[in-house]
Amino acid sequence: MTTITHLINGERIAGTGRTTEVFNPSTGAAIRQLALADRATVQQAIDAAKAAFPAWRKTPAAKRAQVMFRFKYLLEQNEAKIVQLISEEHGKTLEDAAGELKRGIENVEFACAAPEILKGEYSRNVGPDIDAWSDFQPIGVVAGITPFNFPAMVPLWMYPLAIVCGNCFILKPSERDPSSTLLIAELLIEAGLPKGVLSVVHGDKEAVDALIEAPEVKALSFVGSTPIAEYIYAEGTKRGKRVQALGGAKNHAVLMPDADLDNAVSALMGAAYGSCGERCMAISVAVCVGDQVADALVAKLTPQIKALKIGAGTSCGLDMGPLITAQQLDKVSGYVADGVSAGAELVVDGRGLSVSGNENGFFLGGCLFDRVTPEMRIYQEEIFGPVLCIVRVGSLEDAMQLINDHEFGNGTCIFTRDGESARLFCDEIEVGMVGVNVPLPVPVAYHSFGGWKRSLFGDLHAYGPDGVRFYTRRKAITQRWPQRASHEAAQFSFPSNG
Ligand code: NAD
Repeated sequence: MTTITHLINGERIAGTGRTTEVFNPSTGAAIRQLALADRATVQQAIDAAKAAFPAWRKTPAAKRAQVMFRFKYLLEQNEAKIVQLISEEHGKTLEDAAGELKRGIENVEFACAAPEILKGEYSRNVGPDIDAWSDFQPIGVVAGITPFNFPAMVPLWMYPLAIVCGNCFILKPSERDPSSTLLIAELLIEAGLPKGVLSVVHGDKEAVDALIEAPEVKALSFVGSTPIAEYIYAEGTKRGKRVQALGGAKNHAVLMPDADLDNAVSALMGAAYGSCGERCMAISVAVCVGDQVADALVAKLTPQIKALKIGAGTSCGLDMGPLITAQQLDKVSGYVADGVSAGAELVVDGRGLSVSGNENGFFLGGCLFDRVTPEMRIYQEEIFGPVLCIVRVGSLEDAMQLINDHEFGNGTCIFTRDGESARLFCDEIEVGMVGVNVPLPVPVAYHSFGGWKRSLFGDLHAYGPDGVRFYTRRKAITQRWPQRASHEAAQFSFPSNG
């Protein structure tokens, strides 16, 4: 079995200490070993980043962007290989993996605009012979910690932008599916990135804590579950670091009585069961306004859920692959049992699914609960599996109250033909990303991604304009070049244009 190595200072570095196994969730078999970095290994990456920073920050933004142009080309050339690795270790279908990679590449395209996005702001003659400008300067060494569910896209939310902004970056990807992440990082080195500007260290809590505690690391970007997001935000900010920590979710879709139900059903099928529900923007609650909508929804969803094509992610033409680990399969199955004991109506039970030829894979069929109520655990907690809960309410106001009362506020959407309802929803819903007849309102790369409430700790969202802000520090420069040298008397009043 091969052992996946770290990538430090442009070189593959074998680990010295602990290792863990990486599984193919479709077969249930361990397929690779992964080195888990200890503190000394993490420090090697930090030292390399620190050494590379002075030259990289002085490299013209246009030259930094040229590396990203070559990177984009290499990503496209290697698409098939990357997609295969994602699917093999994550379990998502090849088509889904290709979609993830494309959305990741959009962030590289945004980073290609570095000279434009780093232009800063300039004001001439703010006082007599005085000009002022705001410069966007890099922060230094930045680290990113990423989750298993988008091994290509989420890291690409972070380091292309951080790096074109002039920073050096250390990535600690998920230990569950690290191979595509590592291959992609190697392509950036191949694109001409100087050594040390990007390093990848694999690992778990020990590696993450080493990054949090290192004084050289000035900022942390995190994406993962809420408890770890909160931990990283608290520990990082306590040490004076800039932190953006994106956490978990429970995303509601509101179905109004006037919605185009057939299209809403198609949208819900993809948004609830795509990627086996392992997306932070997955729809996990359908809030039906009125019993008529709920009854019609159950009738239309049930046969489609039962007909989901489920199998090994690497086979073509499937709707859904397995869950990521055996533990996740147990956890999600446990939630289904919990929903039944709490009194929710299990309309479709996907437990006990066996996929022919892959009997040891971590498969769970699509599940549908009706008559879920807000005090149930299956409503309150993030399940992160192919389980959709229907909650019945009496009005749009009730639906909005329900969503606003939930601890998470990542994504939501409304299905309606009525502009007034849609506008009210967009205006008053306490959620960071909102769709109107769009089930997965994941912002494009030139906007920014982030939830509200306990779905994000920190002020700035990921990528896009907020990403530029996050990965740069502003410096305001005021300079005076008098027309001719002349002596000026000291002024003791505060300088102003008054
Ligand atoms: P996770 O929190 O278990 O792991 C995320 C990262 O944190 C990994 O790199 C992991 O190694 C590290 N980590 C795990 N435990 C740690 C600990 N005790 N101390 C320090 N570091 C630790 O999340 P996951 O299971 O990989 O991903 C799924 C979660 O991520 C879901 O909750 C999902 O909603 C969330 N997610 C959120 C977004 C978003 O944008 N809000 C996007 C994708 C995923």
